Amino acid sequence: MSGHTTTHSAGRLPVPSTTEAASLYQRLRGHLALLKLHDAAEALPTVLDQAAAEDLSMTAALDRLLSIEVDATEARRLAGRLRFACLPTPASLEDFDYDAAAGVDRKLIDELATCRYLETATNVLLIGPPGVGKTHLSVGLARAAAHAGYRTYFTTAADLAARCHRAAIEGRWATTMRFYAGPTLLVIDELGYLPLPGEAASALFQVVSQRYMKTSIVITTNRGVGSWGEVLGDSTVAAAMLDRLLHRSVVLNLDGDSYRRRDHHARSEKLRQATNGTRQPLQ
Ligand code: ADP
Ligand code: MG
Repeated sequence: MSGHTTTHSAGRLPVPSTTEAASLYQRLRGHLALLKLHDAAEALPTVLDQAAAEDLSMTAALDRLLSIEVDATEARRLAGRLRFACLPTPASLEDFDYDAAAGVDRKLIDELATCRYLETATNVLLIGPPGVGKTHLSVGLARAAAHAGYRTYFTTAADLAARCHRAAIEGRWATTMRFYAGPTLLVIDELGYLPLPGEAASALFQVVSQRYMKTSIVITTNRGVGSWGEVLGDSTVAAAMLDRLLHRSVVLNLDGDSYRRRDHHARSEKLRQATNGTRQPLQ
């Protein structure tokens, strides 16, 4: 092959010979591989064929090629966020049955599903007896957050307490606290199901404190906030923790009894004011 050009029309690159085309193609693949754009590299022959067959413009062809890489990158990142999140079930907000949960305010869940609450570091408290869908909703919120691009982590109160306990023994307290401060959304499931060991209250308090006004917590519990002192074995710490949790919060009562929900609001507000009367009312 001569490698000489065959056309010289203005504004167009010379049409390369087959050898040139082949080596250009190899160079392009090499560039994509070096830049770690592996999905684009793999899709290159297909996209080039499509570009020729559909007479795509250069812009359209590049857009098609890079869209493949962008989609693959986003899918990988989402998979990574979901792996990190440690969600215990496949539950999602979409498969939550509102007819089976009469007390749940659908509009509120729809609003939470937008993840806007994460931008204001608003906390969500899900309160109700076992089996009413608290874990389901908290997993759904965590999944929605991961899909929206937020770093999310799901744990139970008992696991958090155990991990902090081990960290204290092994001299990793600060690292562990940084870990719990990291995710934009931290879900703490099942507060109150198991009696927590003595130092768990201070671990939980520190986790809540360091996230206060910065990042959101979704917390589920079978105990009304009035009995958190009992749950944590320390009413002062419980009150201080609730003060921070409830300052900017959405409280969902899943027992379906609106009277009790109002009653709960009144009680939590009273408790909050008792600890710090200067804050704004519950939102
Ligand atoms: P809780 O955490 O309040 O004890 P779960 O969220 O674990 O309850 O719910 C128990 C089971 O019932 C789960 O499998 C959950 O997916 C399902 N479930 C509960 N409420 C609903 C609902 N409203 N719609 C769909 N599934 C539900
Ligand atoms: Mg549960």
